[in-house]
Amino acid sequence: MSNRDVWRKVLMRIKPTIKLPLFKTWFTDTGIIDRKENTLIIGFPTPFAKKWVQDRYNVKIRQAVQEVDPSIQDLEYQVHSSLTNKDSVHKVSLDSILDENDEKQVRKVRNKNELHIGKQGLKSRQLSIGHTLENFIVGKDNKLAHAACLAVSSMPGGIYNPLYVFSGVGLGKTHLLQATGREILRSNRDARVIYMTAEQFTNEIIEAIGKRRTKEFKDKYRTVDCFILDDIQFLENKDMSQMEFFHTFNDLYDNNKQIVLSSDSPPKDLDGFKDRLKGRFGMGTVVEILPPDYETRLAILRHRCQDLQVIIDPEVLECIAFNIESNVRDLIGVLMQVISQTTLNDTVPTIDLVANILSSQHKIHQIHRNHAAGSCPSEQVRSMNQIIETVAGYFHVTRDDLVGPVRKKEIMVARQVSMYLIRRELDHSYEKIGAYFGGRNHTTVLHAYNSIEDRLKTDHRLIRDLTALKREMGF
Ligand code: ADP
Ligand code: MG
Repeated sequence: MSNRDVWRKVLMRIKPTIKLPLFKTWFTDTGIIDRKENTLIIGFPTPFAKKWVQDRYNVKIRQAVQEVDPSIQDLEYQVHSSLTNKDSVHKVSLDSILDENDEKQVRKVRNKNELHIGKQGLKSRQLSIGHTLENFIVGKDNKLAHAACLAVSSMPGGIYNPLYVFSGVGLGKTHLLQATGREILRSNRDARVIYMTAEQFTNEIIEAIGKRRTKEFKDKYRTVDCFILDDIQFLENKDMSQMEFFHTFNDLYDNNKQIVLSSDSPPKDLDGFKDRLKGRFGMGTVVEILPPDYETRLAILRHRCQDLQVIIDPEVLECIAFNIESNVRDLIGVLMQVISQTTLNDTVPTIDLVANILSSQHKIHQIHRNHAAGSCPSEQVRSMNQIIETVAGYFHVTRDDLVGPVRKKEIMVARQVSMYLIRRELDHSYEKIGAYFGGRNHTTVLHAYNSIEDRLKTDHRLIRDLTALKREMGF
């Protein structure tokens, strides 16, 4: 039996014992590098993959090898970066291991752009396998969005049409949208579902026009059962794409087909959009996802650890959850870094490691270790100057712009925001703040404060900016 045959058989035995996405992740680009007498040398594409598999699957591999070839007594794990080459002679392609059912699932992961669905063979895009409604952790800040997606998936084209989900980055819009598409397909395999980003939509229009295929383009999108368009803010000021989407939207809507949209702001705050389109967006259900609270963040981390089959000290998870408040993508990102660093260095995840990772990314100014006791974040930023510097950095202007006389719109907004924050968080007098800002009159500061306070009642972007700034400063 050749080395490749041995490894193929070993993989066949391991496959049913682990979850498919994990199998795919850890056994792609692996193979037997060599056999020295009774020792089999198994190759992995990266140190991380090698370490991971060795720590977690050694027993399974050993057992499988024994069954396939009892004469092998020892295993050696090595890193061979050449395994990622397309024509590496050592590796066993997983294509030959996965059967048709697995293939269907895995294709969705690997072949992000080309998933054929339904009788008509329309393509659904980028429905990532990890994004399901079940593995979306529901907390008070996202439960409406989740419930709406669930309702849409059980009755597409029903009362929640169009469904419009908005939030800041990394809060689960793409996850929910894809999960909705997936769920519709699960209950009706023949449904024609299209998921795509607004950017892809725009690119396709441009291509269709270039190739004089606009009719095909129109037909393709106007005959689906569910059209999911992610990140529609990308269509800002793109009149042609907006117009095309407007017509597609109307056709689908008139035929009771489901439309699901996501964006970074509510319909009325979308800049650079035709009013008639904004009007359409708001016709059905509009839901916002807010940043998750501590409990939800912790639940997301726990769930992810379970999925990855890793065990991490609860205190470490609590520390991550406590410190990363703003978005789930960052939250998971830090968790993955903690896992990969400890796996590589063969150490146990500690709060110190989390602290190192966070401060190296400037995610926070000072880590809160003592989360259980409820430490007080507002002790962190105390000076006017610190607030001004942070606001300047956030709005991409300089400190001197803010305290100086320039009256450009962006600078004035940033200036008002810093005055507002100083007044609110440090409680300095209007006079003192005015003096600090280049000797301005106290009424100017008062006006800035009131104006921001006023706008915060309606201006979504400003609310988001202020929330982000406060978080950054630990207020
Ligand atoms: P957005 O599209 O809003 O920028 P994503 O959907 O890409 O955000 O989410 C970022 C990451 O966080 C993804 O890996 C997603 O699976 C995960 N995520 C977000 N919210 C949740 C949640 N409530 N439960 C589980 N995972 C989540
Ligand atoms: Mg997204």
